[in-house]
Amino acid sequence: MFDAIAKGFRQAKNRLAGLTELTEQNIETALREVRLSLLEADVELGVVKVFLARVKEKALGEVVRVRAKGQGGETMKVSAADQFVKICHDEIIEFMTGEGPALTFAEKGITGIMMVGLQGSGKTTSSAKLARYLQKDGKKPLLVAADMQRPAAVEQLQVLGKSVDIPVFNIPGESPVAICEKAEAEAKRLGRDVIIYDTAGRLAIDEALMQELADIKTKVEPENILLVVDAMIGQDAVKVSKGFHDRLSLTGVVLTKLDGDARGGAAMSVKEVTGAAVRFAGIGEGTDKFEEFRPEGMASRVLG
Ligand code: GDP
Repeated sequence: MFDAIAKGFRQAKNRLAGLTELTEQNIETALREVRLSLLEADVELGVVKVFLARVKEKALGEVVRVRAKGQGGETMKVSAADQFVKICHDEIIEFMTGEGPALTFAEKGITGIMMVGLQGSGKTTSSAKLARYLQKDGKKPLLVAADMQRPAAVEQLQVLGKSVDIPVFNIPGESPVAICEKAEAEAKRLGRDVIIYDTAGRLAIDEALMQELADIKTKVEPENILLVVDAMIGQDAVKVSKGFHDRLSLTGVVLTKLDGDARGGAAMSVKEVTGAAVRFAGIGEGTDKFEEFRPEGMASRVLG
């Protein structure tokens, strides 16, 4: 999925092959290759610019450092390509790593995780996947079906919950806010320690949706608010993330459908634009196709 990005770094490395020293000129040439591939991979333009500027600054700093050392008679041990790759590697990780752990757990009592996102992003599926992931980690999740916007969502979550042996809470006819509010008592009754709220989505961000989500947030005060974003929507992923973050202060992002032919650029853009990092990745339809997102893994993949 990160092939487009990888291609640019490969070409940048080729440009530097055989050179023992980074220079202003060969840094520029290498950066041009990286720039093209990042844009091709749907990384947001502003993010591409910031990334290139930071890599350039570090690479030029390296030129100065190595030259100063050279005057002192030291010999170069690393090739220009290796130096460039190392700088890019560190910078990619910097661009994607969020502060602290992927999820925050309540010190006492029940932990809340609110899942938000547009319709079709994979929110309901990701809620069940996350519940399974946490269950494997020894937690006892309760799923809350509060997406009353999409007619089949409640039943879909019930089926998914059953398949992974996790209870699903819903009260037919109640409002999403009321359902979420009453979920904590149910979690206590069932001895559950994490509540995952599958909230409503829309085809696009609108005020009614945001108000409902803001009301749920106020009522349940979740420790975590995860935005579920479909990686296939490319540059729009960044706009959507910004829209939700401005209103709800997200704690993280779940990037779904990374198994498809998405070019993966959203993974690099989201944190820079919103401040909330990608924390989990959806890599298939099955409830086990879900993993914690590791910036180091992605950096190694695209840099080879
Ligand atoms: P919601 O409207 O946001 O609740 O979306 P759903 O959870 O119903 O997901 C929409 C579609 O995307 C379903 O067909 C899911 O099976 C599919 N889907 C969700 N996550 C992934 C993923 O990581 N990879 C793939 N290939 N499909 C996914």
